[in-house]
Amino acid sequence: MANETRLRSNEKASARRAGLSAPRRIVEFADYREPSGRALSRIAIVYGPLYSRRRGFSLGINLFPGPSICSFNCIYCFRGGAQRHLVSVERDEAGLDPGRVIRALYHALQRLGSDAEKLQAIDFSGNGEPTLHPRFAEIVKAVREYIDGKGLGISLGLFTNSSRLCSPAVREALPYLDHVEAKLDTVVPWKFHVINQPAPGIELHNILECLAMLRGFFHGTIALQVILLETDGLTNYWFWDAEQLASLAEKISPDRVNLYTVYAPPRQKIVRKAPRLHMERYATILREHGLDVHVYPE
Ligand code: SF4
Repeated sequence: MANETRLRSNEKASARRAGLSAPRRIVEFADYREPSGRALSRIAIVYGPLYSRRRGFSLGINLFPGPSICSFNCIYCFRGGAQRHLVSVERDEAGLDPGRVIRALYHALQRLGSDAEKLQAIDFSGNGEPTLHPRFAEIVKAVREYIDGKGLGISLGLFTNSSRLCSPAVREALPYLDHVEAKLDTVVPWKFHVINQPAPGIELHNILECLAMLRGFFHGTIALQVILLETDGLTNYWFWDAEQLASLAEKISPDRVNLYTVYAPPRQKIVRKAPRLHMERYATILREHGLDVHVYPE
């Protein structure tokens, strides 16, 4: 999930208001190599710190420190979309394993210094869909054990596009997570295919079934993430969009719904921001269904 990677000036200001020293960007790198062994680039495994009202003072963990690997290819993805558009990943070419992630986290915490004690969240997010990583569950468990072992009261979160919520790996990882932010931009199948461009085999009805079951087997907080937008031929923020999503959200029973629009240059130039007025109307309809809705930026 690409939304969590920018430390902006408003985040810095919020962090200062929260009594944190102005956060320095901390990035723990992995050398990404092609299968041939040729070094390509150094891309972050651990990045941040970020400051948001949703997750507080946080770090992100990026499980794909090479090409973006995602089961979606969203038209608004500011990373340029999935460089590898897959439903499953057999082998991680960057070779990330629990040990490498923990070492990167260790160095990031060292560099945070005394601010590490103020850290409120660590989130799996970043360059693509984290649940596609072949060692996702092992890594989540290792990070949980590491932060608990250090006595840090940190919420461990997952930002996901929701395409693999019923997979064995995610089921295995959920007991170690405190927070799941799950993407659901629309519940209209044709809009889902246009907006999210899922890899072949991924169907919206399966995602909705898995989201509806999530509350039954996950005891942390669930946030739905909805990106509202428009293009020349499509919008996903009208009355019926909101009504239909609200009806389904009642079955999912999320703790909150987070509404956003496009804020970085999207992959496709035809994508435009949803007007703020429509975002507020959309939020009102969801609230009428009893949902706790937050519109960002606030
Ligand atoms: S889910 Fe969409 S926005 Fe997120 S990384 Fe994948 S393609 Fe980009």
